Amino acid sequence: MSSCDQCGKSILFGGRKLDGRRYCSAACARAHPLLEMADRVPSDILQRHVDEWRRSACPKCKQNHGAIDVHEHHRVHSLVLMTQWSTRRNVCCRRCGRREQLLSTLYCATLGWWGFPWGLLVTPVQIARNVAALCKSDSAQPSARFEQIVRRQIARRYLEAQSSAPATR
Ligand SMILES: [Zn+2]
Ligand SMILES: [Zn+2]
Repeated sequence: MSSCDQCGKSILFGGRKLDGRRYCSAACARAHPLLEMADRVPSDILQRHVDEWRRSACPKCKQNHGAIDVHEHHRVHSLVLMTQWSTRRNVCCRRCGRREQLLSTLYCATLGWWGFPWGLLVTPVQIARNVAALCKSDSAQPSARFEQIVRRQIARRYLEAQSSAPATR
């Protein structure tokens, strides 16, 4: 099964294909030029932006507690026959990332169990994923996901500058 190159959602039927990429919807397909441009960002420019962003103040707590990266936390809640779960990503410092992971662990432990059968099956998985993330030591290297976000940010700025250039002339 393939997944959307823009939002990561699984594509069961249909979707759109452009230059070897797949998108779940027309809205996601609109990001295609951005993704193409992001792939072409030269590595020295990428490296400079990654380093700069890693060292800057945390977007969440506005402080410098260490390197910025992408931190995931996982949630699940249930109501009898309905269970919903999700993974959220934050660009922030490790301290802020851990706070979210801790809150999500409590969230799952309180609200996850009350659905059958998915609540009982998914809740331990989501709790384990949060605990694993909490225990992971801080990496000296930026994650691939962080680099990808920086790539897209550079590409977005470039495309914006390009599209606004004729208007300012
Ligand atoms: Zn999508
Ligand atoms: Zn922070």
